[in-house]
Amino acid sequence: MRLQNKVALVTGSSRGIGRQIALAMAREGANLVINYSRSEDAALEAVKEIQAMGREAMAVKASVKKRSDVEKMVARTMEEFGRLDVLVNNAGGFPIKPFALITDEDWDKVMDLDLKSVFLCSQAAMAVMRPKKIGSIVNIASVSGLVGAVSMVPYSAAKGGVIAFSKALARESAPMGIRVNAIAPGIIETDTALSVFPEGAIKAYTTYQVPLGRLGRPEEIVGLAVFLASDEASYITGQVYAVDGGFTMQ
Ligand code: NAP
Repeated sequence: MRLQNKVALVTGSSRGIGRQIALAMAREGANLVINYSRSEDAALEAVKEIQAMGREAMAVKASVKKRSDVEKMVARTMEEFGRLDVLVNNAGGFPIKPFALITDEDWDKVMDLDLKSVFLCSQAAMAVMRPKKIGSIVNIASVSGLVGAVSMVPYSAAKGGVIAFSKALARESAPMGIRVNAIAPGIIETDTALSVFPEGAIKAYTTYQVPLGRLGRPEEIVGLAVFLASDEASYITGQVYAVDGGFTMQ
């Protein structure tokens, strides 16, 4: 198993892509911290599912936007497991609104959830990874951060920020034995994505823009996340991988 005895913290792992990444990491032998902000029942279900595989797991309620919550979550991880090997910065949201209508509040909300959270969680995780001189951080960015998305200007800017953040931090943390990489998914069939994107827009996107002709599924992100977290990727850092059915191919 590729993550045997490692401890992984996946932010926003009560639902969607994060939940599938957490389950896949547990299948590969990791013990898990399931993070959520609102969906407690779903987080506890994920914990049960992981425990049924014979791994250890705990759910931690923490808003990734708040430094005090994030620091407490990492402290709890250390109390419970005594180590942290893998951080997946997955929690995020993707509101749609035309640029002309974006308020200061809208802008700050997106930046806090999609970009500042990655800074806060990475800094807290690295503080405990550094002494062990080993660690892997996987950031879930988006194709919006590579090519931009209509009516998603703040989100595109935040995810572009996550990509640049990943590269800069990868350079700075390499001498400490910590690798940082990013995954940029195209539209992935989660409840949130299906409620946010209008049906007509999805049809046009899959018909004319995605060579593989369909949306992605959360399970199609997890293999890469597990690989990047594992020692098999020990010579890979500062990279960005699109998982998008060919949408951004050039
Ligand atoms: P999702 O189904 O809405 O799940 C979001 C997760 O984040 C939930 O577990 C949610 O937990 C958690 N979360 C939200 N706010 C939080 C906060 N303040 N603190 C901690 N956790 C919080 O989203 P998704 O579609 O799986 O997307 C996951 C990631 O992939 C996001 O970063 C998104 O930008 C990125 N992405 C998604 C797509 C797509 O099409 N789905 C495409 C490209 C990139 P609670 O319910 O407990 O709040």
